Amino acid sequence: MHQMTLAEIARGLADKKFSSEELTKVLLARITQLDPQLNSFISLTEELAIEQAKAADARRANGESGALLGAPIAHKDLFCTQGIRTSCGSKMLDNFKAPYDATVVAKLAAAGAVTLGKTNMDEFAMGSANESSWYGAVKNPWNLEHVPGGSSGGSAAAVAARLLPAATATDTGGSIRQPAAFTNLTGLKPTYGRVSRWGMIAYASSLDQGGPLARTAEDCAILLQGMAGFDQNDSTSIDEPVPDYSASLGDSLQGLRIGVPKEYFSAGLDPRIAELIQNSIKELQKLGAVIKEISLPNMQHAIPAYYVIAPAEASSNLSRFDGVRFGHRCEQPKDLIDLYKRSRGEGFGPEVQRRIMVGAYALSAGYYDAYYLKAQKIRRLVKNDFMAAFNEVDIILGPTTPNPAWKLGAKNSDPVAAYLEDVYTITANLAGLPGLSMPAGFVDGLPVGVQLLAPYFQEGRLLNVAHQYQLHTDWHTRTPQGF
Ligand code: GLN
Repeated sequence: MHQMTLAEIARGLADKKFSSEELTKVLLARITQLDPQLNSFISLTEELAIEQAKAADARRANGESGALLGAPIAHKDLFCTQGIRTSCGSKMLDNFKAPYDATVVAKLAAAGAVTLGKTNMDEFAMGSANESSWYGAVKNPWNLEHVPGGSSGGSAAAVAARLLPAATATDTGGSIRQPAAFTNLTGLKPTYGRVSRWGMIAYASSLDQGGPLARTAEDCAILLQGMAGFDQNDSTSIDEPVPDYSASLGDSLQGLRIGVPKEYFSAGLDPRIAELIQNSIKELQKLGAVIKEISLPNMQHAIPAYYVIAPAEASSNLSRFDGVRFGHRCEQPKDLIDLYKRSRGEGFGPEVQRRIMVGAYALSAGYYDAYYLKAQKIRRLVKNDFMAAFNEVDIILGPTTPNPAWKLGAKNSDPVAAYLEDVYTITANLAGLPGLSMPAGFVDGLPVGVQLLAPYFQEGRLLNVAHQYQLHTDWHTRTPQGF
C-alpha cells in the first residue's frame, strides 16, 4: 500500500479498494517503524490524521470526490497548524503551538487531505542539508550516511522512503528542488505569489514560496492544485486563475524549445551529472523537443547577491522572536536587554545567528548601499537574463545541483562550501520564476536531478514536460533499499 502514488491512491479510494482510514493507519505504523532511521518527522499527528481520514471516508460515502479527498500528506514544520507545534526546526519555537492554520494547510484540509505530521527541516529553512535542525539531522534513505538535502529534508526523506506519498515544502533558494534531486523525487517551486505565504513562517519574504514534493509530476500537479490560488491575507499573492494542472500533463512536446545555458556546464559541475543531464536532453529530443544553447551571463553573481538579500530579510523577519510574545524565553532575565539577548542567544542555533548578523550588517547605515542595494541590482540583472532567454525558448533545462548528496557533516565547518552548492537553484528565486526538479539517474548510488525552469505562471508547462519525461523513463520509480 505504501508504494502507491497520490494518483493511485485517488483511484483506489474512488474504486473503494481501501478506505482512507485503513491507508492512514498503514502509513502511521510505517512511520513509527522506519522513521527512527531517518528522523524525518518532528511531530506525528496521529489523532488528527485518523479523524481527518474518517471524515474523508464519510465525504466519499456521501458521493463527494476529489484527488486529495482522503490522501495522506505531511507539512513541513514551518506551515502553521492550529493547536499543533510549529517549530520551524528551532528550539526557539519548540513550545509554539500555532493559533491558526496557514492558508496552504487550510486549503489542503478543505480538499480532504489527511495530515500525518510535521516534517523536519533546517532551522528557519536556512540550509541545504537539513543538519541545522534543532531536532537533529535527517538521513538520506538512499544512503543513511548522506544528507537528504535541505531545507525541506524531512519532507523529502519521508516521501522518498515511502512513508507517505507527498508532502508540502518551501523553497527560498532551492529547498524544494535540491532535496528532490538528492532523494529521487519530483519537486516544484511555483512562481512567487502563486501559493499563499500566509501562515508560512517567513525566512526571506521576497524569495519564499511553498510547493509540492512527491515522487511524480502527476502527483505534484495534484498537490499544487490544492495549494495554489489567490489569498487576500497575503499581500504578495497574485490574483491569477489557477489552471487545471492535471489536464495539461498529456500535451505533446513536439516543437517545445528547450534552452540549455552554456554557463551551467562550467567547472564545478560533476562530469557524471553533466552526462546524465545530456541523457535527459536526448530523451526530450526524442519526444520532439528542440534544443537551443542560451546564455545567462549574470548567473555568476547570483550566489553573493542571494547571500546578502536572504540574510537581510531574515534578520528583519526573525527580529519578532524576542522572548516576549511567544517562543523561547530565558530563565530569570535581569532586564529587558538581558531577556532579548539570552532568549535569542539560547533559542537560535549557530547558522541562524550567523545569518542574522550578516543580514543586520548588510542593512546597517553605511553598508546598505554597498551590499543590499547592490545585491538588489544584481537581482534585476538575473531576472533580465531570464526574460531575454524566454524570448527564445519555452523552458530552460540544466542540473539541479552541481554534486550529489554529500556525507553528513562534510560541510559543517565551511558554510560557504554549502552556499556554493545552491548555484543552479537560487536564480529562480531571485527572479521569482517557477522551477521543477525531477529524477535523472544515479551517481555512486545517489540520485541526481534535472531542473526545468519556465516563465511566470507556467507551472503547467513544467509539469507537462516532467510527466512526459516520466512516461518514457523509470528513474522516478526506483525505491531506496530497505524502504
Ligand atoms: N540553501 C539555501 C539557504 O540556505 C536555500 C534554503 C531554502 O530554500 N530555504 O538559504
